[in-house]
Amino acid sequence: MYTSTRDNSVRVTAAQAIANGISKDGGLFVPTQIPALTLDELKQLVGKDYQGRAVAVLSKYLSDFSEQEVAECVSGAYGGGKFSSDKTAPVVKLDSSAYIQELWHGPTCAFKDMALQILPHLLTRAASKTVGDKQIVILVATSGDTGKAALEGFKDVPNTKILVFYPSDGVSAMQKLQMITQEGDNVGVSAIKGNFDDAQSGVKTIFTDPDVAKLLEDNGMQFSSANSINWGRLAPQIVYYVSAYCDMVEQGAITLGDKINVCVPTGNFGNILAAYYAKEMGLPIDKLICASNANNVLTDFLSTGTYDRNRDFYATISPSMDILISSNLERLLYILSGGDDKKVAGYMSDLSKTGKYTVDADILEKITSLFAAGCCDDAETKATIGSVYSDKKYLCDTHTAVAVKVYDEYRAATGDSKPTVIASTASPFKFTASVLSAVDASLVKGEEYEMAKTLADATGVECPVQLTGLENKAVRFSEVIDKSDMRKAVFAMLGIN
Ligand SMILES: *Cc1c(COP(=O)(O)O)cnc(C)c1O
Repeated sequence: MYTSTRDNSVRVTAAQAIANGISKDGGLFVPTQIPALTLDELKQLVGKDYQGRAVAVLSKYLSDFSEQEVAECVSGAYGGGKFSSDKTAPVVKLDSSAYIQELWHGPTCAFKDMALQILPHLLTRAASKTVGDKQIVILVATSGDTGKAALEGFKDVPNTKILVFYPSDGVSAMQKLQMITQEGDNVGVSAIKGNFDDAQSGVKTIFTDPDVAKLLEDNGMQFSSANSINWGRLAPQIVYYVSAYCDMVEQGAITLGDKINVCVPTGNFGNILAAYYAKEMGLPIDKLICASNANNVLTDFLSTGTYDRNRDFYATISPSMDILISSNLERLLYILSGGDDKKVAGYMSDLSKTGKYTVDADILEKITSLFAAGCCDDAETKATIGSVYSDKKYLCDTHTAVAVKVYDEYRAATGDSKPTVIASTASPFKFTASVLSAVDASLVKGEEYEMAKTLADATGVECPVQLTGLENKAVRFSEVIDKSDMRKAVFAMLGIN
């Protein structure tokens, strides 16, 4: 069963948690118990493929789904050639202790596909178990990658509608092209004047407004969420850490039972939280290294215990991490406070009233033993892309580069040379201009597709067909609205008023 981070009396099934997205009290759904993954079970998974591993791990969290249902969801998401790597999320050795897990071989070339390819399958099954034949309405606030991945996941899925809001100046040119050319009869896309946090707060307000909920109900509809606060997003992310570990055992990089570290470029704290869940299940993970860009609110929090969003917001070259409110952190606070819903509700109320909160000393102590944290700015990010390419012949995107840089600093400062999985969260071709300028600034000219060709020619790395194919698609969504008009846009898209 699942409960809410802000109200321990809540008890819902996995299907209800996934169908509802967020708890009525504003809290996030968390499992009342984290299921165990024993070393014996892990050993069984070493010989399996990604789908086999996914069924085993997800079944533990979806006990109200039959194993057959879980297997159908998994093959619908990761089968059928949707991922361009037969390993789905392959692990590549970078140097003596750094291993890159490429999480971007899906349809939109970002790690969000790992969860958003399976979420529609989970959600439609969850909905039929809970709300019957109501139409599911998905609202998404995106800093770029979630929006496109959600649109691709939900496009033309029967009985669903999806509407995506993105900050008009907060996404890369390629991300924008991906979204404004989106196909499908049940999709809508709108740019807003503001940053990602504005988009996210706007969506959260509409989502939790009882009047809006009533209006939808009267029209046979119900909101659900594809943002990383939905448990159906988080659970599938736990799988790839288990898979990375199994691959490293297969490759002989580690022996079953050895500890590894995990380093994750972090924004909303979903990806690294999934690694934490994997660790709590029993996957031998030592340090969780949280990497941030110039928006380093998490770096400060994880070392001081004070979360303070009252600071300048930077639009960086790793825009999917340009976030000052990391929603999924709430789940970690709930667990580390021993399930103290009142305390968590208090922190979150402080955050919304004053923009900050400070956790108790015992929570901070747990945090510092579990996590390491670091950050780097755009100049360091570019320098890292350049040096990783010239020294190791590996081309990484801007987000991955933040993690590589933070990991290098962690390794130098601590001497910890345990094998470490660095989550690579996007194809370098999603952020072509920045990556190209890091490889050779003299090559930066022309529009997006031209630069993608230049980058491919200069490095010998192929641009994914998912991106080259956009050039011939028509622009369908070019609207930019005020954030105060988001509600109107939702109603217009749904055809209600
Ligand atoms: C979403 C995203 C991140 C941040 O992941 P969180 O789960 O929000 O911490 C990092 N890199 C890329 C490319 C992303 O799309």
